[in-house]
Amino acid sequence: MKIVVLRLGHRLFRDQRMTTHVALTARALGAEGVLLTSSDKSIGKNLDDVAKRWGGEFYVRSGISWKGEVKKWKDAGGKVCHLTMYGINLPDIIDEIKDAEKLMVIVGAEKVPAEVYDLADWNVAIGHQPHSEVTALAIFLDRLQEGVELKRSFKGGLKVIPKRRGKCVKRG
Ligand code: SAM
Repeated sequence: MKIVVLRLGHRLFRDQRMTTHVALTARALGAEGVLLTSSDKSIGKNLDDVAKRWGGEFYVRSGISWKGEVKKWKDAGGKVCHLTMYGINLPDIIDEIKDAEKLMVIVGAEKVPAEVYDLADWNVAIGHQPHSEVTALAIFLDRLQEGVELKRSFKGGLKVIPKRRGKCVKRG
């Protein structure tokens, strides 16, 4: 399954770290890239640095028009899943979503425009309590891929040698 994450909104200061963590989570848990409505280029730079060190390919596109990207994605046959506490609870809908070949996962920051709820093929809650876009994305991506994403290798980067105690890293 081809997965891309679209991060809607970005409040300066509050969201600087949150948006970076959305992108880090997307990269680490199976997405091929992240689309940011924010034009803050520093996030892309951070992720490039991480990919240089830990391997793999990952893209960050900043300053995108979310409507344009959603339309393009759907016109190309992709499906759209919007994570929102108001949606259908994850356990009750995840099996439907697993059949998608190309999936765009949308997470918000501040108030999400009502239009997003209409354009999405699925509006999915990770429980019906407010938490965060990073938590929602992580749980969703892991349930969607049933943990397979945790075993993925990232070409060309440092490799962690798992240890019960202590840390061990070797060149890729
Ligand atoms: N107040 C904003 C609104 O109502 O549109 C949402 C703010 S929330 C901190 C930011 C994002 O976290 C949401 O847009 C959603 O993507 C995600 N999120 C938070 N809690 C969630 C939940 N229980 N289920 C799914 N997504 C959630």
